[in-house]
Amino acid sequence: MLTMDTVKISGKEISQQLRGELKKEIENAICFQKRAPKLAAVLVGAFAPSKIYVAAKEKACKETGIASQLYQLPESTSQDQLHDCLESLNLDPTIDGILLQLPLPGHLDENQAILHIHPDKDVDGLHPISLGRLLSGQPGFRPCTPSGVMHMLHETGVSMKWKHAVVIGRSTIVGKPMALLLAEKGADCTVTLAHSQTQNLPELCQKADILIAALGKPEFVRGSWLKPGSVVIDVGINRLGDGKIVGDVAFDEAFGVASAITPVPGGVGPMTIAMLLKNTVDSAKKRLG
Ligand code: NAD
Repeated sequence: MLTMDTVKISGKEISQQLRGELKKEIENAICFQKRAPKLAAVLVGAFAPSKIYVAAKEKACKETGIASQLYQLPESTSQDQLHDCLESLNLDPTIDGILLQLPLPGHLDENQAILHIHPDKDVDGLHPISLGRLLSGQPGFRPCTPSGVMHMLHETGVSMKWKHAVVIGRSTIVGKPMALLLAEKGADCTVTLAHSQTQNLPELCQKADILIAALGKPEFVRGSWLKPGSVVIDVGINRLGDGKIVGDVAFDEAFGVASAITPVPGGVGPMTIAMLLKNTVDSAKKRLG
């Protein structure tokens, strides 16, 4: 039985709005009369989902007025060859942001490769210097998925001050930076970071005013785990055997318990791309003055 009116938070709409603002900014800002912001996308190998993600990012760039160039490297690329490619992009004054699409083929070391992206062009926010800036509260690029979630929460008018947020997942790309952003001054959440070794996860979730699920397990978080009236952000993207895409939260069970929830697809995914565009525009503004 439904007990609560649940709002579906449309990442699709919020990201469209942000992309519209970026487009206007590119059209109107004097610095962009010199040249458009430009993103270099580096794709190694032919992993099908990565090709789809890169194509979606390139399409989003085009629609927003950002130039993009794809550097497609063969599966056999060596670590040194990948580093050389990234270094040459660092030196190219017409490029504002470098996107290294992950995962890389198994023989390549992702952490080593990321070290070869200049922090001033690290629009994915994954270089240790960018992550250190986040940790120490200095300006810098923030990882796109958690910063997209923050943008979504702000735009939806979710009040965060004094709230208890539970983040499930401790990855460098989502969970850990998510916890830091929620705890930052201004957001002011009290944060619990849960992971695969956390005990009593359902009880913990019942205490969450804001629940961020980023564990990569289809519909793992049940409706009965949720605090009534909580805000649920589902970062997970899981493809089932029949091809259907679902999140980490059992959406139908959560609907009617949560006060607001993001759908999958159409929730966090589009926000991630929009934040990549925003980081690229911000980078270009700095470079062009
Ligand atoms: P990851 O595999 O690197 O990390 C998963 C985390 O979940 C780990 O820290 C692990 O400790 C935790 N975990 C695993 N099982 C758990 C359990 N039973 N209980 C509690 N915690 C558990 O994954 P990731 O890169 O952080 O991605 C997480 C999910 O988010 C995936 O589904 C991924 O596809 C999705 N994702 C979506 C976007 C987007 O734009 N929407 C972006 C990045 C990742």
